[in-house]
Amino acid sequence: MTLVKHLGYTPNFLAKKELFDNPIKKAFHSWGGAIPIDRQAGGKEALTWAIKALKEGKIIVIYPEGTRSFNGKLQRAKTGVARLALAANVPVIPLGVQGTFEILPRWKRIPRLKKADLFMGKPLDLSKYQKTQDSPETLRKATTEIMEQIASLIKDTYPKENMTVNKAKETNTSERNTCPDISLSKMIKGFQKTSLVDYPGKICATIFLGGCNMRCSYCYNKDLAVNHNSLPSFDENDILQFLAKRKNVLDAVCITGGEPTIHKKLPEFINKIRGLGYEIKLDTNGTNPDMVEDLLKTKSIDYVAMDIKSSQEKYDHVTQTKVPLDKIKRTIRLLQDGKIPYEFRTTIIPGTTTLEDIKAMGEWIKGAKHLFLQQFKATKTMINPKIAKQRHQTESEIKHYKQILEKTIDHVEIRWA
Ligand code: SF4
Repeated sequence: MTLVKHLGYTPNFLAKKELFDNPIKKAFHSWGGAIPIDRQAGGKEALTWAIKALKEGKIIVIYPEGTRSFNGKLQRAKTGVARLALAANVPVIPLGVQGTFEILPRWKRIPRLKKADLFMGKPLDLSKYQKTQDSPETLRKATTEIMEQIASLIKDTYPKENMTVNKAKETNTSERNTCPDISLSKMIKGFQKTSLVDYPGKICATIFLGGCNMRCSYCYNKDLAVNHNSLPSFDENDILQFLAKRKNVLDAVCITGGEPTIHKKLPEFINKIRGLGYEIKLDTNGTNPDMVEDLLKTKSIDYVAMDIKSSQEKYDHVTQTKVPLDKIKRTIRLLQDGKIPYEFRTTIIPGTTTLEDIKAMGEWIKGAKHLFLQQFKATKTMINPKIAKQRHQTESEIKHYKQILEKTIDHVEIRWA
């Protein structure tokens, strides 16, 4: 309403289509000039419409971070605003909003009656980026420029961007094996408040810890594993408070990464969550058997999902890391000999995973209870995007891998991409 007052007419908003999923919300958002965008489908239709509308002189309002902040701080923005502005060759007017987090944090349903401030900056001319507008680095630079303007309007800091493409080299995991003994708050880089898929049979919340001691070529979350310092952090206490309030809805918490066990404070954090009455699932790459053993001994975890990256021969190649295989083997043994449910999981990597690897893995983890074969899925945020150009294993090849593995493993399932 404030915007409408300033502009003298109702601008259009791009809003996720879920905001239109009941008649009242639909009427409200349509009245406010919102255009539904289907994020799963890539929102192509809405984007084409938006470019046309911008060229016709209309004003479109976009929330560059894509979702509400968990901690009231600016989050790393998506590049959609820059992409649209450059495609339509129009300037961007930065708007900073302050105070909405205090009114309605993500985990509240009823807003508090408080004041929010809206700050409008001067139009930003992005024409200097025009020539290279299709380059991811250009889009990221333009996005940073926009976000830094917004940050200065609301006296916040925009999380530092890492512009360089990761050139991961083979490095010993011990060089990145532990993070400093810092508060986990600085390492909580993602929080999904409800998931039906991360913990088999449970409704859980998922916490993503930044940093990893491997550099798997197929890793689809480069930012989380490698560039985590450029991501904003979530406050540990905010998450614990949220979990305390959601106890009637959630069964469990999944802790994933990156690689969670590189954080010395992980056991302490897990105990705080367990203190709220939650079951815990831990996702790990298996490089820290000492911590896994302690967590098992102290009955701090209820389920473990461990990656088996490849056959032993290819472990260093796949992870682009000098992996201590003795540690991986110890974690495998701990799980196979232990009492809690676990799963192993293996991603089928284009151009890398072969039938011989599958046979070798089947022998290596012989007697395992449960293995998931994960079909590779290309994303823009992979550590080594070139993997996507390699030959993908066909469905019948993957089904054949499953049959081979079923000779030595109790239960093998395929997770199709
Ligand atoms: S796939 Fe997992 S283990 Fe590999 S780099 Fe990514 S986060 Fe680390």
